[in-house]
Amino acid sequence: MPELTAALETIRPELMNVTRLFGLPESVWDEPVRYRMDTEETPEKYIITFTDGTDSATGEAEIPSDPDLRVQALHRRRAARRLCKQTLYDLCRKTTGIHPPWGSMTGVRPTHLMLEALAEGLTPEDAIERMVDRFDVLRPKAELLAEIALTQRKLPAPGDRWIDVYIGIPFCTTRCAYCSFSSGEIGNGRLVPPYMNALEKEIRGCAEILRRSGRTLRALYVGGGTPTALPENDFRRLMALIAECFPGALEYTVEAGRPDTITREKLRAVLDAGVRRISINPQTMNDRTLKVIGRAHTAAQVVEAYRLAREEGIPHINMDVIAGLPGENEGDFARTMEAARALRPESLTVHTLAIKRSSRMSLENAPLPDGEMTARMVAMGMETARSLGLVPYYMYRQKYMAGNLENTGYALPGHACLYNVDMMEETSHVLAMGAGGISKRIWPEEGHITRAPNVSNIEEYIRRTDEMLERKREIFPEA
Ligand code: SF4
Repeated sequence: MPELTAALETIRPELMNVTRLFGLPESVWDEPVRYRMDTEETPEKYIITFTDGTDSATGEAEIPSDPDLRVQALHRRRAARRLCKQTLYDLCRKTTGIHPPWGSMTGVRPTHLMLEALAEGLTPEDAIERMVDRFDVLRPKAELLAEIALTQRKLPAPGDRWIDVYIGIPFCTTRCAYCSFSSGEIGNGRLVPPYMNALEKEIRGCAEILRRSGRTLRALYVGGGTPTALPENDFRRLMALIAECFPGALEYTVEAGRPDTITREKLRAVLDAGVRRISINPQTMNDRTLKVIGRAHTAAQVVEAYRLAREEGIPHINMDVIAGLPGENEGDFARTMEAARALRPESLTVHTLAIKRSSRMSLENAPLPDGEMTARMVAMGMETARSLGLVPYYMYRQKYMAGNLENTGYALPGHACLYNVDMMEETSHVLAMGAGGISKRIWPEEGHITRAPNVSNIEEYIRRTDEMLERKREIFPEA
């Protein structure tokens, strides 16, 4: 079968990602498919034409060759896929008149491409040009990327000798309407004691794996879920365990996402364990929206949690907010930003709501703002961050984001969260504990990652902790 035709048969999901960039419904891929696809191969070239009614776009690419047939096959597959995606992108651009903010970038990490360009020796200006020319990225987005890449290059470089640690607490007080994690509601707390026992076993086992692997702890992150949803005694036990088993990290973070779970005693436990960075996340400072999205707290509780954390002397508080929440307009988002300016977090992460189309049904009574309004909210988030002296240091994109925008983390100079950067760039080994945690061994030379996932079901995790530990011993053997 001609290579281009073969590529077309396997990349339907990637082509769907392209049409999604233009807000086209997934039904354009139902049979009979909306597009006609005509392919042609000469000895030197792949040629493809996508046709939509009377509009069409044609793309051509040279067929790569290499003395190593395996490498040649790989390069040819890549070239054929890229050509199909790019040509469909050109056609959609023509038929819809839409210019997606991140151009034709799908399934790639934008910062990764920028870091690669800089590593090749391009100046930031030339790297920006490359993003604009090659991927049709809007210039302000390309400039944002360059700024982020330059900040990241000042951080301690990752490498084989380092390892990050993640500890997951899969409990929350209530479930947010947009949640995509496997966390459950803590309910009557029945699962907490057996979960904590299993986790302690895994933490002690992993401390041993880390020591025997001969590597050095880099950044430690306690996430979930909401770790502070644990009862005080369990939370203090967890913090003490971390201090005992994982001393000496370059950075420690504990998610304290829900303000209604934060108490003075928990904040003291955090500080006693040597943790200096926590995250208190309002998502929005509008009580009406908080109710719609299923968070059982008020904006006033957020203010109170910040006051308490400051009083106890937490030096670094991160704030997460979401642009594009159901029922919100620019005025609502402006109120959230006003609160951010008053609370002065050391870092601010501006997310864009990502929600699968199917979930939108449940939000009928609170319509989602459109892509353009969400884009203005995201811009407002950036202005607020800059007015607080924060600079962008990491960003990532997800499927189904409103307006095909992005999530961007801003921090005061010297306050970039190493763990966040490591996760987005996938340049650091990760030893992950707790239900749903995914350990990763990075093979930079091969461009490959070996993953050892923990089961995400809490009860199963409790039963199978030994097996989870064994999976990690296999990918991080004794040095
Ligand atoms: S706080 Fe986070 S993990 Fe918990 S329900 Fe909300 S989105 Fe999910």
